[in-house]
Amino acid sequence: MTVTQADILRALELVKLPASGQSLTSSGRIANILVDGGKVIFAIGIDATEADAMEPVRKAAESAVSGLPGVTQVLVGLTADKAAPSAGMQARQQAHRPAAGPGGPPPKAAGVPGVKQIIAVASGKGGVGKSTTTANLAVALATLGMKVGVLDADIYGPSVPKIFGITGKPKLVSGRTLAPMEAYGLKIMSIGFLIDEETPMIWRGPMVISAITQMLREVAWGELDVLVVDMPPGTGDAQLTMAQQTPLAGAVIVSTPQDLALLDARRGVAMFRKVEVPILGIVENMSYFICPECGHRSDIFAHGGARREAERLRIPFLGEIPLAMQIRETSDSGRPIVASDPGSAHAKAYVALARQVQAGLGGTVRAAPRIVIE
Ligand code: ADP
Repeated sequence: MTVTQADILRALELVKLPASGQSLTSSGRIANILVDGGKVIFAIGIDATEADAMEPVRKAAESAVSGLPGVTQVLVGLTADKAAPSAGMQARQQAHRPAAGPGGPPPKAAGVPGVKQIIAVASGKGGVGKSTTTANLAVALATLGMKVGVLDADIYGPSVPKIFGITGKPKLVSGRTLAPMEAYGLKIMSIGFLIDEETPMIWRGPMVISAITQMLREVAWGELDVLVVDMPPGTGDAQLTMAQQTPLAGAVIVSTPQDLALLDARRGVAMFRKVEVPILGIVENMSYFICPECGHRSDIFAHGGARREAERLRIPFLGEIPLAMQIRETSDSGRPIVASDPGSAHAKAYVALARQVQAGLGGTVRAAPRIVIE
């Protein structure tokens, strides 16, 4: 038995807000309810100043929904949307909800002021070159004349600081707002700037939601044409939550040619489809090998799998990036190849990828995904 959005809103009628005594459901603060089998994920909109006062409400909401039949896991996050305080959120939510009561489409994740489009770079598993692709794609988009930012949301292994050769900590500009770091003309923020690399972190669902929300909304991005988000690898709860809580215009899936990676890539495609984020396409990374000595090309893996898979899934195939020593060396030494050797064939392959992504975005500003309730 699958729980419905109406069941959830009914359960949340019993949770009261401490200040007004109003029920959580009628307060209009519930946003982005996602039901995935027995898993339920949603956010409660708050003003930043209410975080402490609302924590017991978050807990009560979690336990109210946990008690519903068919529910196996509940993740509830508090989100403070600075651009639109809770009153605005209420208005938006009520506008979306039919007069008949609960059950209408949930509201969309708010956009980020100044940022025209946000895209995710994702992979079904780690180590396929997702961050290298993010970095080079971002630099390539900038060479096409776009104002570009990079948000490293890979909470499990933030490697964007290293790829761009950035050290140091971002400065606080005002209140809780951080200035992004800059490299190669890009605005860059990484969870790696904020956490201690030596201290392992255990991320619980609500922390993931608030970490991504903070990095998205409490950074002075300025005016950006596109913000490229390096997602954590995989398709678990954290990834699903991020895909759902971020107003994404599209997603790029990075895969290696091996079948196993493709299976994982397929899960990535399914995840974005579930939250109705358009798939801009699949990139096959480490597609073939170029010998650094003689330039000879060999197809060491069964190359071409991603192209076939893309056709089968009816999504665009964005291109092949070879397994090349120069890509690894430049990426690992903080000089992405598109910036450090723009004339190289590899850099051109990334620029071709960027053109396809730009075309896929089509210059249209797409709102956040509508969430499908299954
Ligand atoms: P992920 O983000 O998927 O974990 P990374 O981008 O960190 O992967 O890449 C993992 C390793 O593979 C890094 O050492 C990186 O330099 C290397 N790498 C990524 N793409 C390529 C490529 N096309 N050719 C050679 N090495 C690559």
